[in-house]
Formats: sequence, structure tokens, C-alpha cells
Amino acid sequence: MYYIGIDVGGMSIKGGLVTQNGEIVARYTVETRRYSEEYGIADDIRKVIDGVLAAGNVTIADIVGIGIGQPGSVDSERGIIRYSNNIPLERVPVVAQLKKFFDVPIYINNDANCAALGEYVFGAGKGYRDIVFVTLGTGVGSGIIIGGKLFEGRECAGAEAGHMVIIAGGEKCNCGRRGCWEAYASVSALIRQTKAAMEKDPSSLMHEEAAAEGKVSGKTAFLAAKRGDKTARQVVDTYIDYVGEGLVNLADIFRPDVILLGGAISKEGERLTVPLQKKMDAEAFGAKFNPRVAVKIASLRNDAGILGAAALVCSTSD
Ligand SMILES: [Zn+2]
Repeated sequence: MYYIGIDVGGMSIKGGLVTQNGEIVARYTVETRRYSEEYGIADDIRKVIDGVLAAGNVTIADIVGIGIGQPGSVDSERGIIRYSNNIPLERVPVVAQLKKFFDVPIYINNDANCAALGEYVFGAGKGYRDIVFVTLGTGVGSGIIIGGKLFEGRECAGAEAGHMVIIAGGEKCNCGRRGCWEAYASVSALIRQTKAAMEKDPSSLMHEEAAAEGKVSGKTAFLAAKRGDKTARQVVDTYIDYVGEGLVNLADIFRPDVILLGGAISKEGERLTVPLQKKMDAEAFGAKFNPRVAVKIASLRNDAGILGAAALVCSTSD
């Protein structure tokens, strides 16, 4: 028996046929497009499911269930996409639409929640009871698992740690509030911090790195810092400290076994985890006496989306 995991993204909708051990044995992808009443996102997801079944040479009778990981706000109980910014969608009852074609359990959840579950079932979160997953990407997403269960809050609208304020009256966030963690710890925030430091220091190696890549990116400061550039090191250290403020807050609220970092910035590996662990060990409440909260990099990487969506099936059905 297999799971199907569907990873909906702004560029593509990827599907995978997943074994019970978390191996992806067949794949199918379509490009994301603009959806309308006539051709909705469910039509494309249906295409991906059919493509995955054909690629794996199996039928729907071989499938335990289908999981969908969707960016934006999702009502997982009712199977509805409430809204999504980067793929303009509003109130789409996607699970009901797909149920007409596939007679298996179908689940949908927010992509960060899926990623947390994926790590818990198949990845670096395996064997732990309480985990917090944080994605440092275009935004800052979070997924919280307590006692082996996803914590979603009322009507699944909770677990948005990216919008806790870490600096009152600080930078404006996309959500309308000021000083949100996301406005300091996302890739977009790091780019803003990098550009500001470059402007002040024309001799910084960050200018060279940015020219080589053709733009200022989330890597610019990290690359220049590795070459010994002092200004870049300051940017990186300050950025990591912002990340750490949020992580320690989460540790103080949930005291999980582990906090896992995913998303583009997590590729920096120990350059992140070493200082973050140090900050955690020093600043988490009662750090000397309370159990330690480990800070680690998530392990599923490129397949996190598909495996996370598949994990939705195993964790919801048992
Ligand atoms: Zn916000």
C-alpha cells in the first residue's frame, strides 16, 4: 500500500507515490497556473494524482490516502483552502471536489504543518514526542507537534509563530503588524538587512558576492562572512540573533524535545545551529535546570513537501 503526497507551490504542483517507509517511488508534476471557476486547482491536483498512479503503475485501490500540502490558510477539518496569496485562491472546497473522483481519504493542510509532520514521521523529528518546525524561507512558517499530534488552534488558524512580535513597533510585516519575527528572520528580511549593510560599507565583499550571483540574495552575507568580511559577519550574526529570539520564545512556550529548521536559510547548517544552540542553552527559561531544547536542521530537504503531505495521511488516519 502507498500514500500519495501532493506539494502545491507557486511554480508547480508536485506529486509523489510514497511507501510506508517514506520512499518516493514515482513522481508527476504540472505547472501551477491561474485558476478560475471553469478550471480550478482541483483539476490540476486531479491530473497530478492520475499522473502519479500511472507513473507508479498502480491504481487507486493501492492507495491508503492522499495528502495535500498547501501554502496559505487552510481549514483542514473541512478540507477548504481559505486563501492563498501567491496562487490567488479563495474559499476552494478542494477535498470535496477531489472526493468525486477518488474514493480514498483525502487530507489537506498548510505547508508548514505538513513539513513538521513529514519530519516527525520520516525525518529528523522521528522518535521525538514534541517538536517545533520552523521554516526560514520567503516567510517564516511554523508547525507544532505536541504529544505526536499537530497543534492547529481554533479552526486550524493557529501555529503562526512567524507573526509573533519580537521588536515592538519594529519593521512592518506583510500581515499588517509591526515587528513580527517574519519581518526579521525571513529570507526577504535578510536581503533587506544585507542591502542596508552594503550601502553603508562600499568595500564589503558582499558587493563582490552579489555581483557574482547577479543579485543580493539570502546567501550574499553568509558567503562574504565565510571569506572573513567583517560587515558581512555582523549581518549574519545579527540575523541569527533575530532567528534565535523567536526560537527561545517558542522553547519557553512549548519546551519541545527539538526545534527543527527548514527552508532556504537552513542550508547554512552549523553556521546557524551552533550559535542558535548556544543562545538557546543560555537564554531558554531556567536553562540551567530545565531540559535542554535541541536546535537541529530538518532532514527532508527537497522532498519535504511531498513527504510532508504523505505524512498527513499516516498521522491523521491512525
Ligand atoms: Zn506579521
